[in-house]
Amino acid sequence: MTRTVLISGASIAGPALAYWLHRHGFRPVVVERAAAVRGNGYPIDIRGTAVDVVDRMGVLPQLRAAHVDTQRITFVDASGRRTAGMNMDDMMSTTAGHDIEVPRGALTSVLYEHTRNDVEYVFDDSISTIEQGDDGVHVTFRRGRPRTVDLVVGADGLHSNVRRLVFGPEREFRHDLGFYFAGFSTDNSRGLAREVMAHNTPGRLAGWYAVGGQDRPTAMLAFASPELRYDHTDLDQQRDLVAQAFAGGGWEVPRLVAAMRTADDFFFDSVSQIRMPHWSAGRAAVVGDAGYAPALLSGQGTSLALVGAYVLAGELASAGLTDGPGRYAERMRPFVAANQRLGPANVKRMVLRSRAQVRMSMRMLGVLNRLPGKERMLARVVAPIHRAATAIDLPAY
Ligand SMILES: Cc1cc2nc3c(=O)[nH]c(=O)nc-3n(C[C@H](O)[C@H](O)[C@H](O)COP(=O)(O)OP(=O)(O)OC[C@H]3O[C@@H](n4cnc5c(N)ncnc54)[C@H](O)[C@@H]3O)c2cc1C
Repeated sequence: MTRTVLISGASIAGPALAYWLHRHGFRPVVVERAAAVRGNGYPIDIRGTAVDVVDRMGVLPQLRAAHVDTQRITFVDASGRRTAGMNMDDMMSTTAGHDIEVPRGALTSVLYEHTRNDVEYVFDDSISTIEQGDDGVHVTFRRGRPRTVDLVVGADGLHSNVRRLVFGPEREFRHDLGFYFAGFSTDNSRGLAREVMAHNTPGRLAGWYAVGGQDRPTAMLAFASPELRYDHTDLDQQRDLVAQAFAGGGWEVPRLVAAMRTADDFFFDSVSQIRMPHWSAGRAAVVGDAGYAPALLSGQGTSLALVGAYVLAGELASAGLTDGPGRYAERMRPFVAANQRLGPANVKRMVLRSRAQVRMSMRMLGVLNRLPGKERMLARVVAPIHRAATAIDLPAY
């Protein structure tokens, strides 16, 4: 009998898991809260072993074609004067040609289009209750009719609904790293393409991430802060928090804050990790950010989600619904740990805490560019990221 797996979340982990489950002979059903696959455009990285996963899925050529190929990062001071910069080819020379960076919307669309004919997608709905019984898992929904399925998987991100319903409240598993991030698109008044332009002040990072040929680059406003209490559904309250954090800022900050007020794709969240002692409980499991978010801005989340989906589906197919989730955790734990260890350091490199750190960092970047052998030194910075991104062997299943 074909076993049905209900997946909550149609972003990256969800459709990737659905793809592999279908290939292994399961019947995946994906329920997504949003009305459609969300296609907002900030660039995300597919690194190391995750590239092998998208290759095995047959979507690597499409993703390579969408590679944004960021060329440079430029740092500017309050008057807009360039204080430092970096050529990305120098920085990523060890992984160039292998790792991919694509707009997040390109990846979610490719995964959705690749699976939509074989997978039942239900949009604009969400799981209300999950009850495990002898004959399966009984699930009710906000809108749709109840279903009994063989397994439920939460692929519903940092604020996972399945995690809350099955494992407990978010506060037990969420570890804030002390930063917040806002992203939204703006007009491209500076004519940026394939580049990042950023202005660092103590505890704040403002700037743009511009993909080539994109007429609306993604603006970013990130800041350090103790835990903020706010309503996750109240976007105006979140906009106020960002505006307060950037009050009195120089360079383009006032224009960015004004653009944030009217942006219709405004996104705001804490930079947090999810750490859970178990990723499954009976006939329920979590995958991707829902189970082991390595933190926004860490650059590792997409790869963990893709590899996690591959391994979970493979272990369910080879070890069955009872033993599969445990085997998935065994295989994934060291890989997740290696990548989560990098999260805080990667984030701290982006949002610098003190005036001395900003000054030192800009000076070092300035000097570095003139040093002979700078590629070797930069490769040493990138090496731990590459090591973590490849710290798992993929079984063939
Ligand atoms: C602004 C930003 C920048 C990032 N930059 C990078 C980067 O450079 N490199 C990188 O590797 N990663 C980056 N990430 C992280 C990366 O996007 C995530 O780690 C990755 O998307 C994880 O995928 P996921 O499918 O597990 O979760 P998510 O992408 O968070 O998807 C969760 C899905 O579940 C849905 N959902 C939520 N609640 C419910 C519910 N109750 N019912 C049904 N569906 C629900 C959501 O609508 C969403 O579609 C960034 C993330 C953000 C937000």
